[in-house]
Amino acid sequence: MNIHANDGISQSGVDALADFGFTLTTTNVAQEQLVNYINENNIAGILVRSATTVRKELIDACPGLKLIGRGGVGMDNIDVAYAREKGLHVINTPAASSSSVAELVFAHLFGAVRFLYDSNRNMPLDGETKFKALKKAYAGGTELRGKTLGVIGFGRIGQATAKIALGLGMDVAAYDPFMDEATVAVDFFNGQSVDINIKTRSFDDVLAQSDFVTLHVPAQDKPTIGAAEMAKMKKGAGLINAARGGVVDEQALVNALESKQLSFAALDTFVNEPTPAVKLLMHPSISLTPHIGAATNEAQDRIGTELAQQIKDLLG
Ligand code: NAD
Repeated sequence: MNIHANDGISQSGVDALADFGFTLTTTNVAQEQLVNYINENNIAGILVRSATTVRKELIDACPGLKLIGRGGVGMDNIDVAYAREKGLHVINTPAASSSSVAELVFAHLFGAVRFLYDSNRNMPLDGETKFKALKKAYAGGTELRGKTLGVIGFGRIGQATAKIALGLGMDVAAYDPFMDEATVAVDFFNGQSVDINIKTRSFDDVLAQSDFVTLHVPAQDKPTIGAAEMAKMKKGAGLINAARGGVVDEQALVNALESKQLSFAALDTFVNEPTPAVKLLMHPSISLTPHIGAATNEAQDRIGTELAQQIKDLLG
């Protein structure tokens, strides 16, 4: 049976699918040629990440398709309900990348409280001639220990983020309208583990009490954090969006940074991917990554093997 991975798949996934007897192709086919490719090559399963879209028109035009697989979490690039109505399997790998996204949040956070995003821009230019001025400019950093991390959306990634925060000695203020509490297991290298129960707080309390707010909600129709919510945050707080473009109002964010209501932001996801707004890219108070939350070797390995296992269970 033929499987086509249009946005790539890890070697572990390639190996597992081969072991299970599937024939895999991994050439990236342009979106407008995908229907022809699927039909001409008798593809039974199409695997995508976030780049390729699998809409109703493609599903209707490819009657041989039995399965759509998303390597990762959000399935906003797939017409999931329609595909399932038509009898197709639609699968994803919801848990595989949680730790990787959580670690990226902390990469941004550690960097932001010591101004690394700006220092890394200016040291190559001025480090040799204005070392002392830069040293002064980047003094006044803060520690994370003892601070409060607000987590909006307390699902898999929100809780993975909380684990790191708790391990660092931070308080976690979580908001999730669908959850009253969660027990987060903080795991140590030697097998020890400490369970910490976290009761969710009201949205306004989380905004008011947090030194940094990180978003882990699904894609939304309107921003979860807009101007009104930013105004409710602590003055000088930081905001991180590694969820989906649009869950933060980007213009309101620029305004809040300009007025110093917020001191920094970190963005991994953007409204206009893959062409984010230049005013964000050029902003001196924003730490930036190009949607790489799940892009670690470990997460991609887990995604590949989890997809292969599910494909074997459903089609093998
Ligand atoms: P999840 O479904 O496990 O958790 C989402 C949580 O958000 C749920 O507990 C839900 O109850 C809660 N929620 C829904 N609406 C909410 C609202 N309006 N306010 C507060 N909470 C709300 O999902 P997850 O695996 O934790 O993923 C979270 C987000 O991370 C998704 O948007 C996903 O697309 C994104 N993501 C980003 C990357 C990346 O590369 N940056 C990688 C993977 C996932």
